[in-house]
Amino acid sequence: MAIDTPLFTQHPRHWRTNAYAYPVISRRSRGLSLGINLNPDTACNFDCVYCSVDRTSPPAIRTVDLATLRGELDHLLRISISGELFDEPPFDATPMPLRRLNDLAFSGDGEPTTYPAFADACRLTVDLLAWHQVDPAVRIVVITNATMLHQERVQQALDILGERAEIWAKLDAGTAEHFRAIDRTEVPFQRVLDNLLHAGRRRPLVIQALFARLHDEPPTNVELAAWTVRLQELRAGGAAIARIQVYTTARATAESWVSPLTPAEIDAIAERPRACGFITEAFYGPG
Ligand code: SF4
Repeated sequence: MAIDTPLFTQHPRHWRTNAYAYPVISRRSRGLSLGINLNPDTACNFDCVYCSVDRTSPPAIRTVDLATLRGELDHLLRISISGELFDEPPFDATPMPLRRLNDLAFSGDGEPTTYPAFADACRLTVDLLAWHQVDPAVRIVVITNATMLHQERVQQALDILGERAEIWAKLDAGTAEHFRAIDRTEVPFQRVLDNLLHAGRRRPLVIQALFARLHDEPPTNVELAAWTVRLQELRAGGAAIARIQVYTTARATAESWVSPLTPAEIDAIAERPRACGFITEAFYGPG
């Protein structure tokens, strides 16, 4: 039976006085994830209707100081490995099976690969994991909207992450129309699809797909069928898809007219790629 905890819905990207690194107990990681926020200015090249980043107040920090980030991550790794982190609230409420470091995740208040020194951040993360002799099973997850994966500097940065790398790439739509409606960006849908194809030919991808009720309407059958076809096209083109995560909103959203789908609706969506042979996980909304 899946373990549940209120900590799954608490994902503040601030911890103590840290500027960039923060711990979360993550449902999708099934354990402790150390987040790395390379977008403290909250700028993003998407404007997703379901985004949970608070952009209503000006950010306290706008730039990334890599020396500070290194110090924060070093400390967090030390107290995660020693277990000291689980002595303090709210982490002292973490169920025992979830008290394990699963990953470090580039997952902040924007698109991490837009940070110009992304490669340097990758390098320092790899170096720290080596320094702390962290189990090779601990992953480095890059949570991305895939818009920058065609850039050579991004590909080189991902190569730095080596065997630990996991790319969790967003694909919320099957049509350009829905893509524009939900992700609200000037980036062409085709570029995202092309980037997923090429990135998936280099290393397996985890596809993340958020579906929600928009203005009280669930996604249409036409849209969901198109999304499933896009996944099949990626696979047929040679992209390796390790698994697909279908989920819905679990926290506050940018737009008030966005609301979570029911678990039954999420299960029905997850069944579509599953029926095509994809490993597919379903994650539900709040409680
Ligand atoms: S890509 Fe991520 S950070 Fe950017 S708007 Fe969408 S959900 Fe928010």
